[in-house]
Amino acid sequence: MPGGGRFALVKTTLLDYPGKVAASVFLPGCHLRCPYCHNPEFVEPRSVDPDLKADDVIFNQDFESFRRFLSRRARLLGGLAISGGEALLHPLLPKIISLAEEYKLPVKLDTAGLLPDILALYLESGRLDYVAMDLKTIPERYHELGWKGSGAKSAEVLLFRTMALLAESGTSYEIRTTVVPPLVDETVLRNLISLTASAPRWVWQPYKPGNTLNPMWSNLAAPDEDELRRISDGFETETEIIIR
Ligand code: SF4
Repeated sequence: MPGGGRFALVKTTLLDYPGKVAASVFLPGCHLRCPYCHNPEFVEPRSVDPDLKADDVIFNQDFESFRRFLSRRARLLGGLAISGGEALLHPLLPKIISLAEEYKLPVKLDTAGLLPDILALYLESGRLDYVAMDLKTIPERYHELGWKGSGAKSAEVLLFRTMALLAESGTSYEIRTTVVPPLVDETVLRNLISLTASAPRWVWQPYKPGNTLNPMWSNLAAPDEDELRRISDGFETETEIIIR
């Protein structure tokens, strides 16, 4: 199991679940290799010692310690945000969602949108209350993020299927794009308008320098937020664009 079955818990956050005071869990393991990824420890957890102790900084939980945490704190929380890595790949995801249901906590899931078959199972069973889907760049450039699928597994096919699923699901959701030149610039954003057209919200997150999976991406120039606002003001789309 990725990370020896251990994962990360942030006990309280106002940032990860729109409109709610939530706890956040981060499940290790990912099938992408975004060079700007700020969670390299979650991408390649095999590099992490599976015998980490419970008070280690990153993977500070196992399932039983998380259960104890919720038994004490669930009544103070408005929801549980589940992120990664790619959370849909993690074998503990069903148990963590079931535990949240036990404590009547709404669940928000973050995903990169390349696993529509798995996402569909959760959406159809009504187990997700909110989905945030990362749309990283135009589908033709996903090979730059390590995606090797082609044909029915091409990024284009999978992303369009996920977008359709979300639009039909009745579940609240948003699309998020990290604006990180040169992977995402004005032309790329413009080319993503049609893909995002069915979404209620499209959140643009300006890249921030920091610890990144590829160290060469750790200190790029951050995009100017006023410039992003100018770009979004010029787009003709029904989708609400939020810069956050
Ligand atoms: S940014 Fe997300 S999808 Fe990309 S490598 Fe990191 S955890 Fe995986």
